[in-house]
Amino acid sequence: MKKVKQILNTNSIALVVFGLAIVLALVAIILLFARRGVDGTLADDGHRSVVAVASGDTLSKLLTDQGFTNADVLEIAKILKSDADVTSLRADNDKIEFVRTNADSPVSKIVIIPSPWRQIEISTTADGQWQCETIEIKPDIRAVYRAGEILDGDSFYLAGGRAGIPDGILAEVYDLLAFEMDFERDVRAGQKFSVLYEENFADGQKIDNGRVLAVQFEALRGNVKMYRFKKADGKTGYYDENGNGAIKSLKRTPINNARITSSFSNRRKHPVLGYTRAHKGVDFRASTGTPIPAAGAGRVVARGYNSGHGNYIKLRHNSSFETLYAHMSRFAKGVVVGTTVKQGQTIGYVGSTGLSTGPHLHYEIIKDGKHVNPMTVKLPAISNLGQEDKKRFLEYRRVLDSGIEYLSEHPDAFIQL
Ligand SMILES: [Zn+2]
Repeated sequence: MKKVKQILNTNSIALVVFGLAIVLALVAIILLFARRGVDGTLADDGHRSVVAVASGDTLSKLLTDQGFTNADVLEIAKILKSDADVTSLRADNDKIEFVRTNADSPVSKIVIIPSPWRQIEISTTADGQWQCETIEIKPDIRAVYRAGEILDGDSFYLAGGRAGIPDGILAEVYDLLAFEMDFERDVRAGQKFSVLYEENFADGQKIDNGRVLAVQFEALRGNVKMYRFKKADGKTGYYDENGNGAIKSLKRTPINNARITSSFSNRRKHPVLGYTRAHKGVDFRASTGTPIPAAGAGRVVARGYNSGHGNYIKLRHNSSFETLYAHMSRFAKGVVVGTTVKQGQTIGYVGSTGLSTGPHLHYEIIKDGKHVNPMTVKLPAISNLGQEDKKRFLEYRRVLDSGIEYLSEHPDAFIQL
């Protein structure tokens, strides 16, 4: 009886939150149209001029052009450095706005716009001093949903692009799914996938894409689902539908989208012929010079050359896991024995050194001293949720799932969480 009541409660919370999201979404749509109207009629009042920083522009040149004295230029440069940590302008990126009370009066305010999310305002005080203020602009975040399907002869990249998923988001999704899927063997025509991700708006204009909030892929081995979730301690991560950590300590395929040309095989020494046919790793075809990212965080325990592996690096990740990368054309700068590397950090570049017939990465995972198949070995999650976080996660997941369900029927809408 109690259980039933609890389920009803969480469902009703989800419904209320979801209802709120729809209302907010509607308000946002109305605001969007209202803003558009204003923007269309917004005229330059003559007292503001915006300068886009071009190559060769310096702050002192731009200020001098606006009639500032050398003393003012020095003062403004000083205050910008001390109060806003700005020492130079970036060409083709930064904008400066000059504000005057009247068209022919001196500039009373300078606004430097280094990003759509940050403005630095320098203005004169009553006693003729300059003061500096940094204003952070909060994006209006909209969660949008894109769904697609793998067609015959497709890659996930092609299908994702066709579904309207931007490249940067697709690359992140690929990185996430690579923990759970083998893109070489798990992808087939007819499989469906979807992504819920953020778009950042300012003043009704889309500025850029935000974070990936949820991913779903109908893989051969089962439906893979991942959700971005913020724990009570403020740390965020991706979790499967049951709240298990989706980010694994190691990647099965260190290089995204690389084709497997030779799989792992553990055949023993042939008893009669006497040679071994084992292949202790997986080969990924990639062109010479392709960066090789570390499959997981760890420490370089070997870096060298031997006739079989050519240039190789071995990483130790924890007390049981090691990975090895062979046939490199060269090592990444500064990566030597003893270097600590992050997951995804480039440790070297694809090549064909050692016993190799063409450029490829030979990748091994060694568990407790034994070679294991990188494609099937069970990999530990980096972090799982504690009891309290798990409870909150399951409620949040229901909200997100109902949002996804709504968006799957209204593909042009968005939700706000
Ligand atoms: Zn190999």
